[in-house]
Amino acid sequence: MTTTAAASWLLPGAGKAAAANQSVAVDGGTITGVTAGQGNGSLVMPALANAHDHARIARLSQTGSYDVPLEAWLPYLTLLPAVDPYLSSAVSFARSARGGVGSVMAHYTRVQGLTDFPTEARAVARAARDVGIRMALAVHCRDLNPLVYDPHEKLLAELSPEACDCVTRRFLRKPVPAAEQVAMVEAVARDIEGHGITVQYGPAGVQWCTDEMLRLIGEASGASNRRVHMHLLETKYQRAWADRQFPQGIVRYLDEIGLVNERVSFAHCIYLRSDEIDLIAERGATIVVNTSSNFIVSSGLAPVAEFIKRGCRVAMGLDGLAFDEDEDALREMRLAYNVHKASGFDVRVSQADLMRFATANGRFAVTGMKDEGLAPGAPADLLALDWKALSAELIEPDVPPFELLLAKGVRQYITGLIVAGCDVVRDGKVVGVDLPALEAELLAALRAKYPTTADVRAAMPELKSALRKHYTGPLYCA
Ligand SMILES: [Zn+2]
Repeated sequence: MTTTAAASWLLPGAGKAAAANQSVAVDGGTITGVTAGQGNGSLVMPALANAHDHARIARLSQTGSYDVPLEAWLPYLTLLPAVDPYLSSAVSFARSARGGVGSVMAHYTRVQGLTDFPTEARAVARAARDVGIRMALAVHCRDLNPLVYDPHEKLLAELSPEACDCVTRRFLRKPVPAAEQVAMVEAVARDIEGHGITVQYGPAGVQWCTDEMLRLIGEASGASNRRVHMHLLETKYQRAWADRQFPQGIVRYLDEIGLVNERVSFAHCIYLRSDEIDLIAERGATIVVNTSSNFIVSSGLAPVAEFIKRGCRVAMGLDGLAFDEDEDALREMRLAYNVHKASGFDVRVSQADLMRFATANGRFAVTGMKDEGLAPGAPADLLALDWKALSAELIEPDVPPFELLLAKGVRQYITGLIVAGCDVVRDGKVVGVDLPALEAELLAALRAKYPTTADVRAAMPELKSALRKHYTGPLYCA
């Protein structure tokens, strides 16, 4: 059945001119034609992609621990009690959809753990299908450095017996053997892939994985073509650790073991050096930039202009840390643009670069699909905004629509999201699930179970100061 999306303005994609009064015909999940038509008050553009997220549902501001740098922020997440994975994932994916996202990378670093993992993965996949977005589940693999990027015995010795006991119990469980973790990824993939759901290897990051684990993933990905998503050089402490571990350079190391190529996407990359940026560009791996997240957990500023200049494929991620805690991918796109776009008249990120960053490059990282923009034959992933409302204050009637979107686009203007030809958001509301009801249920569950993490709450101040001491100590001050 053919349906059409009418647009007063169509933004077809990166580097393609905006066109007034267009109709986009869709059949079987694919765009079949773009023709002159009658505008209906909408601005239609490619759906946005969030190429780094964790299907995370609560923020540390809700627990009174907002201002914490990444190395302490990660253990602080343990304050959030485990909840039903369908509920948490459905809320996360529905919020993403409401924020304009048609494709999301769920790097599933926080396993709720109420059942075995394959059962949990099925619940996450069901949530994504119910919402209707494309989702890659990057299955978390981790078997190294549970507390700091180094041996943790000295740090433990600084804690009181109560805090030490809590930290040992909560953070220092013996990891599942690397080969088992890697084999699990294929098993989960056989179980849940299809209908917009794919599975990727999700090693947490080099500082959290043994050489054995990373090599197994490099080999398995090479053999099966399965994609890989991981954190890379998010903080200056990770850079310092990497430089101690890898005399040849951390990116060179990853390249040697088959983990720098088109199948791979790296989140953050704030502390890459020029030669490493060049290698990533040459190999065709994707860099996923998380501007809001980097601000909030005090990680720094990614050299986005340098990535683009050196030819990297760069995509957008929200990392569960949208600036206003609302999963608004339009605002995230604008924030990234305004942070990196130019120095005076020296333009560093063009509007075409930005469009590619917020749409096609992210969808490629999530799905492997290479289509760029809205054209016959491309997947029908469309975002519709209320152009009448967006343009209500114009003085000159013909301003470039993307410019206006960059000036003031937020999710409140989103009226519709179509993914693979199906309505995911209609009239500003998520169609597949009742988001307000799920949000209320989730909040009630988190509040009810919050006392179960009282031990962590008690131990965190001590752990935080021990972590500060560790990362400002002799290993890191050079
Ligand atoms: Zn992350």
